Amino acid sequence: MNSHSPSELYRGVKILHDPLRNKGTAYTDAERDYLKLRGLLPPRVHSPAEQELRVLGNIRAKPTDLERYLYLVALQDRNETLFYRVVMHNIEEMMPLIYTPTVGKACQEFQHIFRTPRGFHVSLQDRGQIKEYLQNWPHKETRIIVVTDGERILGLGDLGADGMGIPIGKLALYTACSGIHPTHCMPVMLDVGTNNETLLNDPLYNGLERRRVRGEEYDELVEEFITAVNDAFPGVLIQLEDFGNTNAFRLLEKYRDRVCLFNDDIQGTGAVAVAGIIGALRITGGKLSEQKILFLGAGEAGIGIADTFVAALVENGIPPEQARKQCWFVDTKGLLVADRGDIPEHKRPYAHEHPYIANFLDAVNTLRPTAILGLSGQPGHFTKDAVAAMATINDRPIVFALSNPTSKAECTAAQAYTWSDGRAIFASGSPFDPVKLGNRVFVPGQGNNAYIFPGVGLGVIVSGARTVTAEMFLAAAHSLANQVTEADLERGRVYPPLGQIRKVSALIAREVARIAYARGLTNKEEPADIMADIHEYMYHPVYPHYA
Ligand code: NAD
Repeated sequence: MNSHSPSELYRGVKILHDPLRNKGTAYTDAERDYLKLRGLLPPRVHSPAEQELRVLGNIRAKPTDLERYLYLVALQDRNETLFYRVVMHNIEEMMPLIYTPTVGKACQEFQHIFRTPRGFHVSLQDRGQIKEYLQNWPHKETRIIVVTDGERILGLGDLGADGMGIPIGKLALYTACSGIHPTHCMPVMLDVGTNNETLLNDPLYNGLERRRVRGEEYDELVEEFITAVNDAFPGVLIQLEDFGNTNAFRLLEKYRDRVCLFNDDIQGTGAVAVAGIIGALRITGGKLSEQKILFLGAGEAGIGIADTFVAALVENGIPPEQARKQCWFVDTKGLLVADRGDIPEHKRPYAHEHPYIANFLDAVNTLRPTAILGLSGQPGHFTKDAVAAMATINDRPIVFALSNPTSKAECTAAQAYTWSDGRAIFASGSPFDPVKLGNRVFVPGQGNNAYIFPGVGLGVIVSGARTVTAEMFLAAAHSLANQVTEADLERGRVYPPLGQIRKVSALIAREVARIAYARGLTNKEEPADIMADIHEYMYHPVYPHYA
């Protein structure tokens, strides 16, 4: 138990209003005397377990998930230890509330449900002052930043400053899933305007009332921000989150070797999906090198997965040009082929020489893929005909409908299993309940990035790595796939249960840290026991003891 000396203490009502120190009704009698809390609390002392019970009862009694989200946000604002205790002990129930799909709904309503500010807001108006304003941030030991400009929130598009719910949610997952201390986390909204007319016309919108800035002005703000946070928090890990794809690829290329930075939508998604494919192959008995993947959607997520898949094949001795030919894309303009013209930089490696095909079903029938991966943000595009065609071509087709939130999934779990006579190996981005078909029960896997980014971040932070490399993400994918048990596979699930996420993250962190030490990416000396070092760092939601 953490013990706090009197000099650090807040007392009286002040401590009750400090979410990091507040214990609510769990202050002991001795603490109530010592902290001058007598009269400020009801007399009965409750244990953290009893407090958790009360919170769970309240959450479950709420009529909607958005109400549950609001309750949890309020709890985080008043008692962070209890918030993390509840989230960690009930991760399968809480993750869909604090992250996708509920966080999507929360972001869409953000200007209306806004109560207490959380995180750090940087806007175009702050140009030239960011370094100075960062002094206002209370946590001087910040080790990780999740930053968005709100342009592509989940599959919901431009939500401007309302996208702040995403960095907040992701950092809550860092703490819950891998034990990054809450005070080491900084959610950031980079407000460069929005092109969302509904928001611009809403008097309650909290962001800048202007359309998105692009080009030099945008780049200068990002540059100032990256430089300022590295001055304030040297070596801080920066996660780019939900940027529109024109900026996401560009910023990743610009900064990935310069500072400690990655893009979860590209690299985290790549690792989690490739882990799912490796897991699926443990069911089908197929080889990674024999897979042909047809993607629906050629954005950050699709290209990120293809790049990670190619890296995995290259690791197995397959030349990159050959590996890329195993990845095919259908986007809004149909099959991505070489002579389509005007192909953006990030799609070019996957624009193969092939006759053009206009629609997805024809592409399935012509290319005969082993896997279809949906990352289009468009629901319903894995039609009955497309899934049935996959089941004709393959004994065990891989069907991953990864678009978020749930309402955007390319098909549902029930559709995938039904249309393939129970032969599809299915995973989704947002959770689906198990599906009963006849007397068989299928447990869909959730290709949730939360399996990857918390572990990668933990490994980077604990090892003090200066950069985040592609090798780290591939190692994370292998580590995750290796943690799927035979029992999981028997039920059709290609990811371990979320309930094991802390263990999953710690093992991923170990692989990431090993790479940092082996490749000389850190000034820190390699500890004798990397795992012990990781466990020593990890935060646990245990109340401090005041005496
Ligand atoms: P993005 O905007 O970068 O890319 C979307 C792509 O879909 C673009 O290439 C676009 O051309 C294509 N597209 C749009 N409509 C289409 C249509 N009707 N037919 C074919 N293609 C179409 O977005 P992104 O970051 O790549 O994310 C895409 C989706 O993937 C989102 O819903 C996101 O939530 C989801 N995602 C899931 C995971 C996960 O499951 N772990 C991770 C990241 C992203």
